[in-house]
Amino acid sequence: MRTVSCAVHSGLIACGQIGTVAVCVILTGVFALAAVAVPGRLRGRIPGLWAIHVCLWSGLGANLWCLFTGNHDQTPAGLAVTASSVLVLGGVGGIAAVTPARPVPVRAARRVLVVGAHPDDLELACGATVAKLADSGHEIFALVLTRGGNGGSAEERAREAVAAGRLLGVSQVRVLDLPDTRLAAHEPEAVAAIEAVVRRFNPDIIFTHSANDQHADHRAAHVATLQAARSHSAILCYESPSVTTDFDPRVFVDVEDYVDLKIAAVGAHADQRGKAYMSAERVRGIALFRGAQAKVRLAEGFEPVRLLRATPGEL
Ligand SMILES: [Zn+2]
Repeated sequence: MRTVSCAVHSGLIACGQIGTVAVCVILTGVFALAAVAVPGRLRGRIPGLWAIHVCLWSGLGANLWCLFTGNHDQTPAGLAVTASSVLVLGGVGGIAAVTPARPVPVRAARRVLVVGAHPDDLELACGATVAKLADSGHEIFALVLTRGGNGGSAEERAREAVAAGRLLGVSQVRVLDLPDTRLAAHEPEAVAAIEAVVRRFNPDIIFTHSANDQHADHRAAHVATLQAARSHSAILCYESPSVTTDFDPRVFVDVEDYVDLKIAAVGAHADQRGKAYMSAERVRGIALFRGAQAKVRLAEGFEPVRLLRATPGEL
């Protein structure tokens, strides 16, 4: 009896997690002080553990008295302490053993490919999402199919695409030289170029233009991306300023804290400055509207072609 009660009184609780199950192990030390050893993360996981925590502390005086007098098994008080200790330890251990631990969120770095027809498409359509993903440690590859020579200086626009991408945290910006405004006529080359990047970069998720877009190059980029990524399981279509009223986003990314960066990246395209859709007011307005749809303050919306595993929210 003395041996059993001493072991109970002198228990020290070590708590942790094995797989998805919380575990609780009794070691050595002054039992009442075991409460200190209950880690905060386990307290948050097991309902009622705070009550047990208080019980452990309330028994401190009795436990110390038992340990120092050495006659705890010969008195009613000692027996009461022993009995309550057994109950408390059994309760803690039992609850911990059967309570599934809260899953630890996996924040593995993902590879994100963004395909755009022109140098400013990425920034205007999903610049805030890209910045948020880059900020979270994910690797972003931007593939721009044309240098946008029909809408401004091809050289300047290509340089600005790289500068804007750097601002957003894009790891790599590749600007191709397929014919601007005639992308549909060069679909095989576009498909081959996108296929090559998909093969080498092996993205977890791909962003591209929507089919619901009135710009012929944007629709061509959409078709080419879907063909190149025909075996890929996560493709989202972004919202360019030229989308039609049929654009119907069902996936949203909360971009609070990233819209100012998006506006700065759009502003990096000085060659296109002056166009109405490049204004900070228009960019913020779209984010507010999509935010209202998504029930957050600011959001970007996407049409999913298909979306398996890697949702933007998980990225
Ligand atoms: Zn464009």
